[in-house]
Amino acid sequence: MSRFDQYFCMNEKDAAEYAAQRLGIFAGCGPLECKEIGDGNINYVFRVRDPATGKSAIIKHSGVKTRSGGSTLGFDHSRIEAEILQKEAQYVPNLVPVVYDYDPVMSCMSMEDLSDHAILRYELMKHKCFPRLADDISDFMAKTLLPTIDAVMDAEEKKEAVKHFTNPPLCKITERLVYTEPYTNMSGKNKVYPANAGFVAQEIYGDKSLHLEAAKLKYQFMNNAQALIHGDLHSGSIFVKADSTKVFDPEFAFYGPIGYDVGNMIGNMCFAWANATTTMKDRREMTEYVQWLDTTITDIVDLFREKFRSLFHEKATDRMAKIDGYCDWYVGTILSDSAGVAGLEMIRRTVGVAQVKDITSIENESERKLAERIVLLCAKSFIMKRDSYVNGCDYVAELHSTLQKLAC
Ligand code: ADP
Ligand code: MG
Repeated sequence: MSRFDQYFCMNEKDAAEYAAQRLGIFAGCGPLECKEIGDGNINYVFRVRDPATGKSAIIKHSGVKTRSGGSTLGFDHSRIEAEILQKEAQYVPNLVPVVYDYDPVMSCMSMEDLSDHAILRYELMKHKCFPRLADDISDFMAKTLLPTIDAVMDAEEKKEAVKHFTNPPLCKITERLVYTEPYTNMSGKNKVYPANAGFVAQEIYGDKSLHLEAAKLKYQFMNNAQALIHGDLHSGSIFVKADSTKVFDPEFAFYGPIGYDVGNMIGNMCFAWANATTTMKDRREMTEYVQWLDTTITDIVDLFREKFRSLFHEKATDRMAKIDGYCDWYVGTILSDSAGVAGLEMIRRTVGVAQVKDITSIENESERKLAERIVLLCAKSFIMKRDSYVNGCDYVAELHSTLQKLAC
């Protein structure tokens, strides 16, 4: 019998004892240190360390309710997160943290400590470059998404997998925060920057044709069980250091549209672009950094498209999916969804309840106003003309031309 045989919400002391009992890497260790380092609303994230040997691990533990004491999400998202990370490790072992253990009773996933990495979002805000980023992220997306599509999987297995990874409470959050509230503000929870209140009223709340496209994309998110997606692939879910990229936090995973992952990635790179172009003071440094961002955005799209296409030809098993022209059509729909989702992500993170530091950290009012307007106008274009964003350079061209228009 152990006190961890029945669920309770752990504090740091509990987590240290839990790790000592449960995790093989701490076998024979003395007293462990533990610190809660979580910064989200859903889980407690404990870093447990043996001061004598320096060995460490991360324990991600869900509460019964969200940390703000709000809704109950159940525990199944923890199972899904542990299982998808283990699955992804089969395809891209270098790009995800190693899972040591998943415990459904305590709703704990124990994994590799990546504290030697930094969160991509904050590194981009310091205007740092990561030369491997586009190659690694396009690899991650192509190699983890492609094996779970209908053209590749056995049809019955695929449907069982859709059941196994159904994630209603977390999808509901996305459906509300990404696909509904930013446009309707029904709950009154949107956070509009006062200097852009009139602009948002006109460009977002007042644009009925935009609402219709968002509604169509919502339907697509709710009904297109295309592949096992990460579900929250933003720059806060990616750890980086000079020679390594790791994608973590896939608790929103489910069988959904591939464009949801690709579009999130593009949208979040656009926040970094808006931050750099509006806040960097040294012109030469800014030009160099924006060039790197331009290349990275371009490469993320183009490398993903080409890697996915080539894996499709290599791995597709369904006879109908091998018909000439099918792969091009299929990839075309993914690219269009990606542009739509990039736009939705950019709007919801600017006017919605969950915002991003790339934008909110901009202290100067005219810089923030401009950054938000670049993001919002590009976002609208990505959504409204989503069929025309086929190449990475199409996104970059839109960013530059929008900045130019706004700066006049
Ligand atoms: P949540 O889903 O609750 O937001 P995350 O998975 O995003 O939780 O983790 C919250 C924070 O905990 C991250 O931003 C990061 O700082 C830290 N963290 C999470 N996983 C690891 C890890 N494997 N190694 C080091 N730090 C981690
Ligand atoms: Mg999370």
